[in-house]
Amino acid sequence: MNYIVFDLEWNQSNTEKEEVEVLPFEIIEIGAVKLSDDRTMVSRYDQLIKPQVYRKLHYMTQKLLHLEADELEKGIVFSDAVSQFLDWCGEDYIFCSWGPLDLTVLQKNMSYYNMPPLTEGPIAFYDVQKLFSLAYGNKKLRRSLEYAVDFLRIEKDIPFHRAFSDAYYTAKVFAAIRNANVLAHMSYDVFTLPQNKEQEVFTVFDDYAKYITREFEDKAQIAADKQIMSSKCYLCHKNLKKKIKWFTPNGKHYYCVAECDKHGLMKFKIRVRRSENHKLYVIKTIKFIGKDELEKIKEKKEHTQEIRRIRRKNKNHNQNSDI
Ligand SMILES: [Zn+2]
Repeated sequence: MNYIVFDLEWNQSNTEKEEVEVLPFEIIEIGAVKLSDDRTMVSRYDQLIKPQVYRKLHYMTQKLLHLEADELEKGIVFSDAVSQFLDWCGEDYIFCSWGPLDLTVLQKNMSYYNMPPLTEGPIAFYDVQKLFSLAYGNKKLRRSLEYAVDFLRIEKDIPFHRAFSDAYYTAKVFAAIRNANVLAHMSYDVFTLPQNKEQEVFTVFDDYAKYITREFEDKAQIAADKQIMSSKCYLCHKNLKKKIKWFTPNGKHYYCVAECDKHGLMKFKIRVRRSENHKLYVIKTIKFIGKDELEKIKEKKEHTQEIRRIRRKNKNHNQNSDI
């Protein structure tokens, strides 16, 4: 199996008025490096794309890429470039990129030109920016590509900020990460969500599990789904009694805590998100926690309830004073 480390450059409208809503970012360059199984570079891909939507370069794009609009005129049209790129990718590969955006933007552009979708469901890929943070950082902070290159003392033999060069350096950073636990952290692009229950994604990492659902019409449907609302231990699959019942501080994130006799305390978190089709889907994560985190979540719940009490009181008060 190969790794396709790719990077896109895109352009956008100079004014909000001219922005095409379904295509905020138009791809103008694809750069990629193919790595073999043992992560040595075996092939490269580099292609300029002639813009068809935003013909003028956004001032930031121009500044960052050192590219002029007439240079792009020498490129080929997007649909040809993508067909060529996917041919070059071959059959058996995993995408890798710096940050999570590129795969989504690629699919959004493909969808704009009515090209067939890349896959039927979510795409597993490596977000090398995240892997770098897991391997060398504090796991939360996301660094720039140049920071990672400097940190790993990778030779800066070509300039940054063009698609090919950024793919090239991302590949070098990726090849430097050897920790198997870190490499187990696949990301999922959810531009195409699971179409049904069978396609749903449930992955177990070394210290947490992740569940990506199909789409739902509304929150009531989500609340009625047993698997989403369940608090099962992801190791022994036992239904656990909740120590803290589901609550939400903001209507988007929901939390609960349960305890497995064998495996300990587990935090369940549900994030409700809006899909490309303007429906809802859920990303649920299950994570082991310690006693201190349990206390923190308890406090969070109490705080949420307190705020709700105050709001209710104010509302009643306002209603009373109306009378
Ligand atoms: Zn268990």
